[in-house]
Amino acid sequence: MNTQPEVTSAASSSPPPQAHPPTAVYTLPPLPYGDTALAPTISAETVRFHYGKHNQGYIDELNKLITGTKFADLSLVQTIQATSGIAEHAAIFNNAAQAWNHAFYWRSLSPKGAAMPRGLKVRIESTFGDVEALTDELRAAATGQFGSGWAWLVLDGATLKVVKTGNAGTPLTEHVRPLLVIDVWEHAYYLDFRNRRADYVDAILDKLINWAFAAENLGSS
Ligand code: FE
Repeated sequence: MNTQPEVTSAASSSPPPQAHPPTAVYTLPPLPYGDTALAPTISAETVRFHYGKHNQGYIDELNKLITGTKFADLSLVQTIQATSGIAEHAAIFNNAAQAWNHAFYWRSLSPKGAAMPRGLKVRIESTFGDVEALTDELRAAATGQFGSGWAWLVLDGATLKVVKTGNAGTPLTEHVRPLLVIDVWEHAYYLDFRNRRADYVDAILDKLINWAFAAENLGSS
């Protein structure tokens, strides 16, 4: 099952490349739960701003930037990969990557957390020693990211790794498979945790992280 997030695009069913859609190409994917479902760890107010304003803003800006361009005919991932590292397309990259990263983030959380499937646990233990060692690495990546960014669990070849990316950075440009992500932009935690990013990360890892989603992305159960 393909569990990568789908930021709905009309591109796949669109008519010919010349007929650039005059209106929105992408729409904000629905949240996989209600906006109060992550409380009290992440408040409804945070979700409403984060999802309804920030996430929506990336989608709206992306639509503005790509309407009438060749990027309107690409998938979101293709757009991210085609614009990565190209200065003149930096704004498109930033908004496209943020749209993808956020869809992935919402699915990396679950209202009550999700127990770790056995297959994933075995892979984690063989790579990191034990689950605590992995969560220690995720915590270090999330708190060690200077400024805005993301902490990820990825599959690189056959190896599980923890990586961090700054700003809109995404592992999709590194040809590794994202399994799980924690958003460490201040907008993800400031209303609830103020400047205490480490407390936000600990709370996510303790209460909300969706290990079942990671296992689905890994293809193990
Ligand atoms: Fe965010």
